[in-house]
Amino acid sequence: LGPTITFGEILVEIMATLPGHGFTEALDLRGPFPSGAPAIFISQCARLGGQAGIVGCVGDDDFGRLNTDRLRADGADVSAVAISPDLPTGTAFVRYRPDGGRDFVFNIAKSAAGQIAMTPEARALVARAGHLHVMGSAFAIPHLWAVLAKAIPAVKSRGGSVSLDPNLRKELMTPETSARLAQVVAQCDLLLPSGPELQLAAGLPDATEAEAVAALLQKVPEIVLKRGDQGATLFTREGRLDQAAFAVTEIDPTGAGDCFGAAYLTARRLGLAEPLRLAAAAGARNVTVLGPMEGAGTLQDLNQFIAARI
Ligand code: ADP
Repeated sequence: LGPTITFGEILVEIMATLPGHGFTEALDLRGPFPSGAPAIFISQCARLGGQAGIVGCVGDDDFGRLNTDRLRADGADVSAVAISPDLPTGTAFVRYRPDGGRDFVFNIAKSAAGQIAMTPEARALVARAGHLHVMGSAFAIPHLWAVLAKAIPAVKSRGGSVSLDPNLRKELMTPETSARLAQVVAQCDLLLPSGPELQLAAGLPDATEAEAVAALLQKVPEIVLKRGDQGATLFTREGRLDQAAFAVTEIDPTGAGDCFGAAYLTARRLGLAEPLRLAAAAGARNVTVLGPMEGAGTLQDLNQFIAARI
């Protein structure tokens, strides 16, 4: 089968314990928690028993060790996580606003996360991979895109598959990121958009959901649209399948989409029953726990979560 792999930022997240606005005053903070969308994704794949690995870069510091130790403990392959000799592990500080929005302070661009490269270890992981999951945030990072643009055809040419979480904001799109998005959509086997990313991926910003889905199904055989606390819908050329969200109390929404996507993909790759329901359970369970990947469950955790709710 070959492992599921992804490329991208491995970070720590530190969060304010109380809602408010910004970081211009001294706050009570919680963390560091291991974070970074690609790391959350790989953690959830590995916890479900799927072979999974990540290409990334951390600093030679405790934040880097916190994250790589965690991924290793989850069972992920961290052989392609490089250690930068001079730059620190990337950090994200987050504070929830009273309305549920979030304020961030990022230190990522000038951190080790910006040093991801096709090292010999990364090349070896790509050569073993059965599936490559692409995070759309990579489209805006030129050297990361350069590495991915080589990895995608390498995985596909050996019969591997590709998925894409567009993970993009309309306001931040440029002609270049749009072209990269279109290029990956044309090569992907599974698309996992949320909200308006569906229209962005279709290249039809003003289309209805049905129009965007119809256009995308010409290129991508399997689309799972994530709808937050409204659940999710699977679209294929044969039809659609709706999945309601599990009712939970949301503590920390970060990571829901990554856990959802990882569970769906891993269930599909391992042939587990009801991939869409398992994915909805993974997303819902993760929002009930503070910390971006602290709520990522094992198969047993997710089955128990489902059994308690049906
Ligand atoms: P993204 O983080 O990519 O925008 P979503 O927020 O849509 O993704 O979350 C992914 C999936 O996780 C949803 O489709 C849903 O199944 C589940 N989920 C997310 N938030 C909640 C919530 N508050 N309650 C229940 N399920 C949720």
